[in-house]
Amino acid sequence: MKKKVLLHVCCAPCSASAVKMLGKEYDISFYWHNPNIYDIEEYKKRKDAAKKYAASLGISFYEEDSFVYDYDNWLECGGETCGFCYAERLSKTAEFAKKNGFEFFSTSLLSSPYQKHELISTIAKEHAEKNETKFLYKDFRPAFYEGKNSLRSEGYYIQKYCGCAGSYKQQKARVCRHINAPKRDLNDKN
Ligand code: SF4
Repeated sequence: MKKKVLLHVCCAPCSASAVKMLGKEYDISFYWHNPNIYDIEEYKKRKDAAKKYAASLGISFYEEDSFVYDYDNWLECGGETCGFCYAERLSKTAEFAKKNGFEFFSTSLLSSPYQKHELISTIAKEHAEKNETKFLYKDFRPAFYEGKNSLRSEGYYIQKYCGCAGSYKQQKARVCRHINAPKRDLNDKN
């Protein structure tokens, strides 16, 4: 019999690589708790996509109350200080796993090459210990692009920024810099 793992899912595209790498060995359930996501429309889009992906695979989808979105607590993060954000999400995942008889928990945050991978793992281990449960570590990054591209080809929503208001502003600033950049002279060899 496969072992039960509760997978915290930050979004559908990141969960695809985790499913690919854990699916053969583990009985996966999805857990949604991402109060960091700005704004409300974005929050809904990501949650709906994750839910739809779970349904397409016949995977159970659990979530905290009917709606959890917490703008105020992420006002200061600026899209850089991510420890608080990881801890908030992974502590709830560990608690839920313990309470509901999952042998392990893990997170799709380990899929993205843009996240602070080691910090996620350290924080997850801390909360596993606190809750007397087990954190299942696996580096899902090798399957990240394959997973993301396969969901994109199936028409799933793919977000353009990490989640909080700070990361949204950073992404906007990058786009603006790109738009305002002087057009390159194609004859210029420099
Ligand atoms: S950049 Fe991402 S991980 Fe970091 S605080 Fe913002 S939403 Fe959380």
